[in-house]
Amino acid sequence: MIISTYDKEHLHRSFGIELGDVDLGPVEAFGVGANFARVPPGTHSDPHQHDETETFAIFSGQGDIVVEGKRTPITAPMVVQFEPFESHYLDNTGDCDIFFTTFYWRDSPRAVKKAERTDRRRFGERPVFVFSTPPTPNGGLHIGHLSGPYLGTDAFVRFQRMNGAEVYHLAATDDFQSYVAECARREGRSPEQVADSYATEIKETLAAMDIHPDQVNHTSREPGYQEALRRFFTRLVDSGMVRPLQGEALFDGETGQYLYEPYVDGGCPGCGTETGGNICEVCGEPNFCVDLTDPQPTIGTATPRRGSIVRYMLPLHELRADLLEHHAVGRAPAKVRELANRLFTTRDRLDVALTHPSDWGVRPAQDDVHGQVIWAWIELAFGFIYGIETLGRKLGKDWSASAPADDWKIVHFLGYDNTFYHSIFGPALYKIANPDWTPDVDYNVNEFYLLDGDKFSTSRRHVIWGKDILSPDSVDAIRFYLSLTRPETRRTNFTIEGYEAVVRQTLVGGWQRWLGDLGARLEERYGGIVPDAGIWSPEHTAFLVSLENWLGVLTSSLGQDGFSLNRAAKALDGLVADTLRFSELERPTADIADWKDYARTAIALELAAAKLLAHCAAPVMPRFAAMLADGLGIEAPTRWPALVTLVPAGTRAHLAGQVFFTDPANSDADLLPWLSGAVTEALALSGAADPDSTLVALGSTSMQAIALQYQILQRTGIDVPIDDLLGGRTLAQLAEMIGQSAQDVGVTV
Ligand SMILES: [Zn+2]
Repeated sequence: MIISTYDKEHLHRSFGIELGDVDLGPVEAFGVGANFARVPPGTHSDPHQHDETETFAIFSGQGDIVVEGKRTPITAPMVVQFEPFESHYLDNTGDCDIFFTTFYWRDSPRAVKKAERTDRRRFGERPVFVFSTPPTPNGGLHIGHLSGPYLGTDAFVRFQRMNGAEVYHLAATDDFQSYVAECARREGRSPEQVADSYATEIKETLAAMDIHPDQVNHTSREPGYQEALRRFFTRLVDSGMVRPLQGEALFDGETGQYLYEPYVDGGCPGCGTETGGNICEVCGEPNFCVDLTDPQPTIGTATPRRGSIVRYMLPLHELRADLLEHHAVGRAPAKVRELANRLFTTRDRLDVALTHPSDWGVRPAQDDVHGQVIWAWIELAFGFIYGIETLGRKLGKDWSASAPADDWKIVHFLGYDNTFYHSIFGPALYKIANPDWTPDVDYNVNEFYLLDGDKFSTSRRHVIWGKDILSPDSVDAIRFYLSLTRPETRRTNFTIEGYEAVVRQTLVGGWQRWLGDLGARLEERYGGIVPDAGIWSPEHTAFLVSLENWLGVLTSSLGQDGFSLNRAAKALDGLVADTLRFSELERPTADIADWKDYARTAIALELAAAKLLAHCAAPVMPRFAAMLADGLGIEAPTRWPALVTLVPAGTRAHLAGQVFFTDPANSDADLLPWLSGAVTEALALSGAADPDSTLVALGSTSMQAIALQYQILQRTGIDVPIDDLLGGRTLAQLAEMIGQSAQDVGVTV
């Protein structure tokens, strides 16, 4: 027998509370670790998660057990068991200690099972609010923007929805940014006009990318928004932490204009790189303009002068511990945590101005900073919870920005240059304004996407606008290429040549060629009807396992814990490449009668691969996925598959001749020369057919028209009705009509 008693003189601090050893012998021998634990009144243990299964035996105290944001009251004595990776902590809301003993042990099969294939892990039944960074409406969206937060959010939401989550894509435009006012000055318009016109352009570009948010707020137009923002700001002030204080600032040497954000450049105090005011895109650190080395105005040439001004100030450094805790609640990638660590360890103080002199923005309710507005980055943080409130109004839910709830699961998609605002500044404001709320936030951060090796730049016209490259024909190819190459771990580079090569070689030359060939074989051997699988060879079984593995890779690539479109796009192509290999291996016996029961298994498995592709591609390439499912004769892919399954035997498929992707280099080809040649041949004319003649005028019979119809179908995939061929259209008009139809369905002619 081993007896271990509680010794209050020998406690150590861990997980934010006091722990005492329970001696049950070495963990290696016994398999179970244990501790006594005490949570003093008014405190809580650190939220955390781990691979061990853990049991709490709680003897006394009052408060809550919080698991994945959900609170359950403690009714001691009680026993609670946590599954591996369940995020948990104890919150003592009573006035005496919570005493408990914890037992934990490693059960690897259980942990692996919990980590994989549980697509609702951490999210459970909670509402999931996914935010794409609100763009500043001082320009349209280029493919650099699109590749990052917007495509990321859309694919993430589509995957979650397929898995049955209550998930919403929330978007906004960040109208009151100083960059909008500066753009208005340059363009000779009012900031309202600038914000409105670019908001429209942004909306159209997102729609062309097949991105349709569930909620879009425009901060300068949203009724009730400004009053709500003022109330949020007042809560910050009422906390006593945010106060009007005299501090140093930069002013234009000639005009005396207050310099910040778009109005000043200089050397970053963090990394030395040339940067704009307030944030460095390279190292991610904020600056306060007065700390820029060799500051220069962006308008005029006079050397800026230092002056003094009273603004509302936040001593951000005092919130370090709260931010550490915040980054442990949701998914905060190492880069996010590293930035926070760097900021708080390299600087003694981080005094951030929360109001700035400007005519564009929302004035605080307080009247002690005349001529100043609430900083737009406060609006970013507030705008998220306000977005949830406005979405709730639409859905009849009582979500309130003034009382945000612990069960809200928030997911952000952002560029690294916004990390400070999203993951450090914003949560600090929440802590002050809503101290009872524990925001549970996942951060998905992307790096910079370059164009031909250089930064996207509107002013230098070094840019590809979404509106110029997106069309119904190209959108899925663009989405695939951006998924494949978007900068998830480091800067990556976009080139038009690279994009066209991937479309030509991978999507048209690989995927489309396989699917067309599969459809043709199905037509030829089985009359287009999906056969039942017959006898399985060892290779067949191995291929099924391989498909299961791809499903596993795709599930984890698109899931919330390790979301990566780079990995998802690679896996989609890997799935096709594997299937092409399998198809080639099976080909030799495809037509041998003695092996027909094996041959139908092989083709059934290829069709199962196509079905898996239709489902797994849906979050990334929704149009292609729907079209492929339709070609396979199965329902639209709205549910994420739990298993690889065969296409039901007897299904009528129509894969042959389907055109899913268009080679960008061929999309504008003129059909007329080819059509004239085909007509000359079909009608056995002595000279070249006159483009301004009709087929009837050239003497075409019905049989000849049918032959021609077949040739057009073979060449373009377009089935032109005989009545149209023999109607009043000239050859030139027919060529144009076929070309148009081809373009409408994304066919290469
Ligand atoms: Zn820097």
